[in-house]
Amino acid sequence: MIKTNDMFYAKSSDTEIAEAGEYGGAVTTLLKFLLEEGIVDAVLAVDSSADLYDVVPVLIEDPEDMVKVAGSLHFGTLNMANIINRYLDGAQDMKIAVTVKPCDAMTLVELIKRENVNQDNIIMVGLNCGGTIPPVKGRQMLEEFYELDPDSAIKEKIAKGKLIVETEDGTEKEVPIDELEDEGFGRRGNCRRCEVNIPRMADLACGNWGVIGPMAGKATFIEVCSPKGAEILEKAKEAGVIELEDPIPQGIEIREKIDNAMVKLADKWQNNDWEDKSGREIFSVLTEYMDDFARCLKCYGCRESCPICYCENCTLEADNGPDWLSKGEIPPSPMFHLERMLHMVESCTNCGQCEDVCPGDIPLAKIWHEVNTKIKITFGYVKGTGEEKPPIAYFPMGK
Ligand code: FAD
Ligand code: SF4
Repeated sequence: MIKTNDMFYAKSSDTEIAEAGEYGGAVTTLLKFLLEEGIVDAVLAVDSSADLYDVVPVLIEDPEDMVKVAGSLHFGTLNMANIINRYLDGAQDMKIAVTVKPCDAMTLVELIKRENVNQDNIIMVGLNCGGTIPPVKGRQMLEEFYELDPDSAIKEKIAKGKLIVETEDGTEKEVPIDELEDEGFGRRGNCRRCEVNIPRMADLACGNWGVIGPMAGKATFIEVCSPKGAEILEKAKEAGVIELEDPIPQGIEIREKIDNAMVKLADKWQNNDWEDKSGREIFSVLTEYMDDFARCLKCYGCRESCPICYCENCTLEADNGPDWLSKGEIPPSPMFHLERMLHMVESCTNCGQCEDVCPGDIPLAKIWHEVNTKIKITFGYVKGTGEEKPPIAYFPMGK
């Protein structure tokens, strides 16, 4: 019987899916199987829309549609937890399987703790993640570093520390990610600082790291992270839709080594971006960014895109808020940010959504990640994992 902590090389038994999938199509096969068996009502996955840089969430109910969204998209900057919470009623009445990067999975865990998402109705199929690339800068990067028309790119992948781009005529060009990042391109700032690459808080953690030998490039390394994950993998194996093999022991070591190297790289970026990584006083952090906060237009974009913001009636709205709002004024800086900070920062998973949307170019993800690190040091609270409730302003909201 498959159990938590088991590890496998996995690939689809279906040739079409195996070819369409990024690394053997095990994830697509599992998701299709869950729909076929009626274990879930829908799958929330990701597809490209207008082009490679336009990455969108898709809700799939017909198992035959699963293969159409196989493959990994690195120009996507979505937060899947936000979509489940805001647009799918926190999975209260619908069983959903969802593909999740570590920040998506951590956010779902925080929303489950706050009773906004129904854990019983969610299956998290985790994807290892070394980072995502902002779409607009991504296009610019292809012009400058790859000397390519961005519209000619049909596929991108990350392998051995390089971003490889394939064009319509079948040629591939690659540039080391280090080189891109030294020039201010490459992964988003929050992804560079992220220390969680393997989503062990999901039910399964799937990725290409550690697949060596004859299966290299043709299979996915799956780590089973929960009894729920073990059960669905067992059922898929029994049904013959997925092929599992024991991983090569050296592959397990290589996976661990790459993960450690990525954590060290995140450490380097944190040292680069923060004045003191050992946890500055929150007051010092906020003081440093007063000029940045002053650029805030009060467009409320960060609040709208934040997957953790939980109040049904936001206290920053005129009808509910303090005096300045009832007088028809916008919240003064930095009150807006302090208020938002109190509500979300302990659960902030560094997903970067706030910074992505901010028209004032305020380094919001960088600020809240640093404050969250101080909370981790002070209270020992690690966001996005376990069952412990957030320590400061925990409000179970429910749906
Ligand atoms: P497939 O059968 O191809 O299925 C992949 C599923 O993921 C599809 O349903 C698709 O809709 C969904 N998906 C695609 N893009 C996204 C996205 N951005 N967010 C959420 N869901 C998505 N593995 C590593 O070991 N190391 C890494 O550094 C690493 N980085 C990754 C970065 C990103 C942004 C992504 C999306 C994946 C990354 N992976 C990484 C995982 C790896 O690329 C494969 O997704 C994994 O091995 C599963 O392969 P598969 O053939 O079974 O998946
Ligand atoms: Fe202010 Fe930026 Fe948030 Fe808009 S997104 S409210 S400008 S911080």
